[in-house]
Amino acid sequence: MGRRAITQQDEWYAEGLRFTCTQCGNCCTGPPGYVWFTDDELDAMAEHFAMTRDEFLRTYCHKVQGRWSLGEVKVGGQYDCVFLERDAQGRALCSIYGVRPTQCRTWPFWPENLDTPEDYVRASHDCPGMTKGLDGQGDFYPIEQIRIRRDATEH
Ligand code: SF4
Repeated sequence: MGRRAITQQDEWYAEGLRFTCTQCGNCCTGPPGYVWFTDDELDAMAEHFAMTRDEFLRTYCHKVQGRWSLGEVKVGGQYDCVFLERDAQGRALCSIYGVRPTQCRTWPFWPENLDTPEDYVRASHDCPGMTKGLDGQGDFYPIEQIRIRRDATEH
């Protein structure tokens, strides 16, 4: 069953939200997760590595429930995104930042995080960028920007 349509009454975040990524990397590691992508996003990522679609899928992806997801690497009991790198200060870096899929670009404004304020607070427990936002710090995202990210995300 698909998601129910979101109405203006559902938009408890109508006044906007604040968020700035601190590059902690929590969203790119942890328990096994999935990063879905569209065919266009697959083409962009494959082109980034000068690979064919098949080469990219075989090298960096795995199938989950019949669908391709970006792969993961087990590091110290955690599952890192195959493209997660860290600099000397431990900051998380996405090695395909410019061509990362929509699912990554639209965090934290995913429908499931925005359902209720409680869902948003729950999601913020693992994301210091959201926590800072809830404390009134970080970049301001007006409702129009949140809607674009929210409605671009399907996973
Ligand atoms: S968990 Fe939040 S603060 Fe940390 S890297 Fe991901 S988006 Fe940024």
